[in-house]
Amino acid sequence: MKAAFFKEHGGADRILYEDYRDPVPGAGEVVVRVRACALNQVDLLLLDGRFPPPEGLPHVNGCEVTGTLEAVGTGAKGLEPGRRVIVFPGFSCGSCEYCLRGERTVCVRYGYLGAHKDGGYAELVKAPAANVLPLPDAISFETGAAVPLAMLTSWHALVAQANVRPAQTVLVQAAGSGVGSAAIQIARLCGARVMTTVGSDDKIEFARSLGAERVVNYRTQDFVEEAKRWTNKRGVDVAVEHIGGDTFERSVYALTRLGTLITIGSHDTHWGRLDLRHVYSKNLRIVGTNLGSILELQTILDHLVTGRLRPVIDRAFPLREARAAVQHVLDRKNKGKVLLVP
Ligand SMILES: [Zn+2]
Repeated sequence: MKAAFFKEHGGADRILYEDYRDPVPGAGEVVVRVRACALNQVDLLLLDGRFPPPEGLPHVNGCEVTGTLEAVGTGAKGLEPGRRVIVFPGFSCGSCEYCLRGERTVCVRYGYLGAHKDGGYAELVKAPAANVLPLPDAISFETGAAVPLAMLTSWHALVAQANVRPAQTVLVQAAGSGVGSAAIQIARLCGARVMTTVGSDDKIEFARSLGAERVVNYRTQDFVEEAKRWTNKRGVDVAVEHIGGDTFERSVYALTRLGTLITIGSHDTHWGRLDLRHVYSKNLRIVGTNLGSILELQTILDHLVTGRLRPVIDRAFPLREARAAVQHVLDRKNKGKVLLVP
């Protein structure tokens, strides 16, 4: 098969589009013919070596995949080749203490499609049979591929972890990103009011169209000051943060008393610092979360079918132009998800 992979760490120019080993399904596994794969921030960390692929190089990125079943290994019952599917990207062992507690995203043997295993920047990809869900006919392959990591992570963060309720105020960082554009819609679906940040004025209208009431250009405005102004000096109930560094620190200062900061990524830097007096004197909660459950992914698909959630797709590139697609994301030109289509 053809795949877009890398043999050494670096920028987009390290991505090769060449022949790659065909995946073979083992017992309880399937091979999916990729019809669409979304790019993710974690892809960039894997590519540049900040998060080196655990199985080493060469490596195929791509955590968010839709396609059709190509081959089914032994023991994968009830799955016929040709069926339209979406792949749940998290791998867990099912037997460690955390899996048994129902918290599979903190499994001690946790892994991601496209990180711990080769992913979907390819014509074919292998996954456990237990990780595939039927993709409803009403959802296109492209729309479905924008969901499994970005929208699921935002859903789990806001609904399960922060328990966002009607009339609460939510600050979402980076409306132009996949998780940001998803988080705005999900917070609105929960009945909350949303303030968000953008890095350029041409993304303001886009952020409003998703349901944000207040949009702040973080390059020209102080989002902490703006959050205070927007809430009559009170501060926001929930902040969704995935940038790290200064943005992490200042998102905490934008919270009201008893507020919750949800950290779901560190796309600029893995580090952040805090004036701890804010945390203990205001009784703040700082909650880390990653991904969500396969049941939550099913719930999101239901909301897609009824039109209550709408993944934002910036554009699709042919797989052979993966290098240009990655550069597009590195240059932060995207409004929503960028896809690869074989
Ligand atoms: Zn486990």
